[in-house]
Amino acid sequence: MPFPRVVRDEALVRSHRRCCVCHEFGGRSVNVHHIVQEADSGPNTIENAICLCLRCHAEAGHFNPRHSMGTKYSPDELRLHRDQWWTHCQSHPDEPRGLFLEVHFKARSRNADAHKYRLIVNYTNTLKEAHNGWKVQIFIPAFVPVEVGDFDKYDTSVDDARYTMLETQSAERVFPGATIEVVPNMNHFFIEYEVNNANYDRVLSAGNVMWKFFTSNAPVIEGEKPIAELQEF
Ligand SMILES: [Zn+2]
Repeated sequence: MPFPRVVRDEALVRSHRRCCVCHEFGGRSVNVHHIVQEADSGPNTIENAICLCLRCHAEAGHFNPRHSMGTKYSPDELRLHRDQWWTHCQSHPDEPRGLFLEVHFKARSRNADAHKYRLIVNYTNTLKEAHNGWKVQIFIPAFVPVEVGDFDKYDTSVDDARYTMLETQSAERVFPGATIEVVPNMNHFFIEYEVNNANYDRVLSAGNVMWKFFTSNAPVIEGEKPIAELQEF
């Protein structure tokens, strides 16, 4: 039996929808997990519930006391993680509940010499207040060919490395709980980059996409990800 709705909701709210082990914001993919499995007579109560992200959920599910490889999660450890995180959330009620920017890609075309990808960025407003507008800056290494539609394009450098900075902004209001397409997958408004034979090695070793996302009333979200991690080649 799954947890009753009221128990699930309480666990999600007390955790701010974040993973109790790694504290990553889980959004819709957060799991409410049994600390002691139902097969081992674990009850469907809040005492036995913990919010975990997909990765930690997969790891915690592998706990087996008869197997001694690696450092496994025990129920006692999971309970301690959870209680520590719930105490933190309770004493920081106004902390942004996981400012959430999702950066991924869509393959556009592939041939033997080059792969083209379209960057897609979504933002979810996890605050209680609406934003009155937003701005995004995407930084792509200058050695990666980029084509854009309706983005301002600048040459810049970050830590002595040359980047192409792509910027756009909007006066759109973003309501609490809403998800918007910051870099959408549309015909006239896009960012496409190319991985080809000439830049392949550099993309693998030094190809980081970076971003900054500004709103009217929330902290700036900054992040970066190796291009090689954004997709499988
Ligand atoms: Zn986690």
